Amino acid sequence: MKAYKVYAINDGTVIDHIPNAKALKVIDILGLENKGILTIGIGFSSAKMGKKDIIKIENKYLKKEETDKISLIAPSATINIIKGGQLKEKRKIELPGEYKGIIKCLNPNCITSVKDVKTRFKIVGRSPLVLRCHYCERIIKSGEVEIL
Ligand SMILES: [Zn+2]
Repeated sequence: MKAYKVYAINDGTVIDHIPNAKALKVIDILGLENKGILTIGIGFSSAKMGKKDIIKIENKYLKKEETDKISLIAPSATINIIKGGQLKEKRKIELPGEYKGIIKCLNPNCITSVKDVKTRFKIVGRSPLVLRCHYCERIIKSGEVEIL
């Protein structure tokens, strides 16, 4: 693994290839403020992306629900799992087939707005992202996404 200008971590997760200036948004949706040591790099040069952001999270490995959330903001991101100072796993963020309990349905009459039902959204368009509510079929475009 390439050495970055920010210090290396021994155990945890590195989220790389985040679009520039989106790192803080990623931290926000993951609820990582005040949850341990974070290193944030903003505006690194990237051959592929021009500029990119990087987040290092010590002693934490992301759950599927968390990488699903990241896919809403940074679908190009890569996840690096570091254990004992070694890169153990590197994977790309993947758009899930369905987002469960992550996105708010904007239809106030939807059963998920009225009752305690987990929202479910299917992906109907990928670039740009377009989602459809499983229950009321309301279409939500990427600019309208509200994360729960
Ligand atoms: Zn709905």
